Amino acid sequence: MTTLRIKLSRCHLCNATKTRPSPTAYVFCDFCGALIDFDFQTAISDPRSKLPGPEYERLRAALAPQLEKAQQRGDKDAYLELQRKLFAAYVEACPAACSPRINDPAYREKYLEHSARSATEGVFDPEMKAASDRQAAAMKALQWIPGGAMGVTCRPETFWALYDTVLEMAEVGKRMGERTGLSALQPDGDTPVGERIGLSLFVQGWLPYLKKPEIDELMRRTGLATEYVEPTAATDEVVPCGVCKADVHRLEGAKQCVCDGCGHLLFANVVTSCSHCAAKLLLPAERTSFQCAFCATELRTQAWTMGHLDKRV
Ligand SMILES: [Zn+2]
Ligand SMILES: [Zn+2]
Ligand SMILES: [Zn+2]
Repeated sequence: MTTLRIKLSRCHLCNATKTRPSPTAYVFCDFCGALIDFDFQTAISDPRSKLPGPEYERLRAALAPQLEKAQQRGDKDAYLELQRKLFAAYVEACPAACSPRINDPAYREKYLEHSARSATEGVFDPEMKAASDRQAAAMKALQWIPGGAMGVTCRPETFWALYDTVLEMAEVGKRMGERTGLSALQPDGDTPVGERIGLSLFVQGWLPYLKKPEIDELMRRTGLATEYVEPTAATDEVVPCGVCKADVHRLEGAKQCVCDGCGHLLFANVVTSCSHCAAKLLLPAERTSFQCAFCATELRTQAWTMGHLDKRV
């Protein structure tokens, strides 16, 4: 089973090595909860990855003319508002395609805002526009030869030309992020993982249209070929997540961690108990209040440092 293996990852923030297996492609630090890696192998074998579906596609088609009009008259605010709607619908339609942290309302809000703003800046930024035009041209120039899993495969030189535009878009995107302040809005903070996710999704989509030599070459160039290790036995204590009751393995020395059950970032350095039902639990780190997973009492989290919770009146 893939979940029993651990991809060799190290946290860019606290330098800890990943110790516990990750149930999704999004790999979080066991000690501080940061997004530290994206596991391509898990991503391609996750059966929950699916396309958004007809409802989302209907909305997208309905908004397309408005988006185009807003773009033509240079109305960035209107464009942004439409993108917000579109991303909100996307997250509803295919949550499995997003980070598991999407269930945390605070994270979701940051994610939606960053996504909508990125899409908007991208359309109104001349450098990005030029790069995406070059990418569209490379797509059009692709040549196909019979054979392979899908019945056709991509002629290698035309595929590599497309791949170059993917790298270029990533570079241009980085510069645009710095220029526009988008980088500071990233829901996962300043992490090198965003780029990796983009590359991974690209590779995932194109693997079926490539032959073995190109696949090997692509895995080498992207650095997505990975090394796995067996999980090491770490000292841990199992405490329920305050939001969803799932077992959370709290490692010794951990400050924050992400719940595998609901995706909330939790304080891992303190175990509290519910002021109503006395259940032991870990608190969500980015919410001011939540309902106790055991008795549904609304609890405020500001008082967490005191070691217990106050009931909200
Ligand atoms: Zn860390
Ligand atoms: Zn949870
Ligand atoms: Zn309770």
